[in-house]
Amino acid sequence: EPNDPYLEERIFELRELARTAGVTVVGEIVQKKPSPDPRYVIGKGKLLEVMVLALRNRANLLIFDRELTPSQVRAITESTDLRVIDRTQLILDIFAQRAKSKEGKIQVEIAQLKYTLPRLRAKDDAFSRLTGGIGGRGPGETKLEIDKRRIKDRIAKLERELEKISQERDIKRKRRKKLAFKTVALIGYTNAGKTTLFNTLAKSQYLAEDKLFATLDPVTKAIRTPNNQVFLITDTVGFIRNLPEDLKKAFRATLEELYSADLLLHIVDISNPDFESQIETVNQILEEMELLHYPLLMVFNKIDLLPPSEFQLIKALSHRYKAIPVSAKRGDNLDLLLTKIEEILFKTPLEYLTDKV
Ligand code: GDP
Ligand code: MG
Repeated sequence: EPNDPYLEERIFELRELARTAGVTVVGEIVQKKPSPDPRYVIGKGKLLEVMVLALRNRANLLIFDRELTPSQVRAITESTDLRVIDRTQLILDIFAQRAKSKEGKIQVEIAQLKYTLPRLRAKDDAFSRLTGGIGGRGPGETKLEIDKRRIKDRIAKLERELEKISQERDIKRKRRKKLAFKTVALIGYTNAGKTTLFNTLAKSQYLAEDKLFATLDPVTKAIRTPNNQVFLITDTVGFIRNLPEDLKKAFRATLEELYSADLLLHIVDISNPDFESQIETVNQILEEMELLHYPLLMVFNKIDLLPPSEFQLIKALSHRYKAIPVSAKRGDNLDLLLTKIEEILFKTPLEYLTDKV
């Protein structure tokens, strides 16, 4: 768009997504044109710029922020000799890398197949280049040869499997509830530091090692608070702005755990100048998922990256958002964070009342 007010943010986000997917970004090119070239999307001059940039940096991948048609991908691929993908494929690729549970993997495959289906054309040998994202993870080479009917069958089969898993999960969740362990889920924008915090806690003296917890799935750990209370903590995939409609289910599958959480820990990268709009994005998604009424604690992460001149500001902001400032990487302030979590999870209403007296 010629006058996109969110241009900067979109470039930043696409760059972040690419980084999350494991891509090294060597440069970006913006085209401000009222109507895109139907064949190449971008003009001839820009196409040349792209090729020069790619050659200079030995790049082999070209990511578009907009959706592309198969013929556009083919045309651009042929004239630039670059692998061409769009934002949706990039996100699908991240989900494919991150989906750890069986359920998450199935949801991602369904999303990939649904992305593929309308793009599938008879005897389209360029097709293999259109799927699978960066690492070629995707429905898989063999599946590329199957026709639409079989893709549809596959989707139906996966959906049935999902239903079964979902029922099994309910049972597991109930069992977990019976053990009476409180659960905390890490949420937040991509790159906020959720996984880092999860790993730091799991490697620290706070990890509760017990046979009882041996059966937890890999993204869940049992953590001990300074006063020896135990709760479970779960890592999740990050939140992404403007998620294509077809991807929302896959995204939510990785977030199903949220509904059984006793507390949502909203991790914010406070060193990111864009952090307020990222908080807004997360809140919007929470609203869409009907999670706004859940107990939530905000965590301002990456305080180690802040210059001393901003300390006062962050202090004021922490106060305003009732947030706990931490450094997940260095382990700063984790005691305070865990004490706060403990207070929220384990204090009975009576204790709150007597506190006030
Ligand atoms: P996630 O997408 O929310 O899971 O974020 P990650 O945990 O993958 O972290 C994203 C990036 O931020 C990684 O490069 C981390 O090393 C970095 N990071 C996370 N926490 C901190 C922190 O407290 N300080 C600094 N300086 N970097 C951090
Ligand atoms: Mg993560």
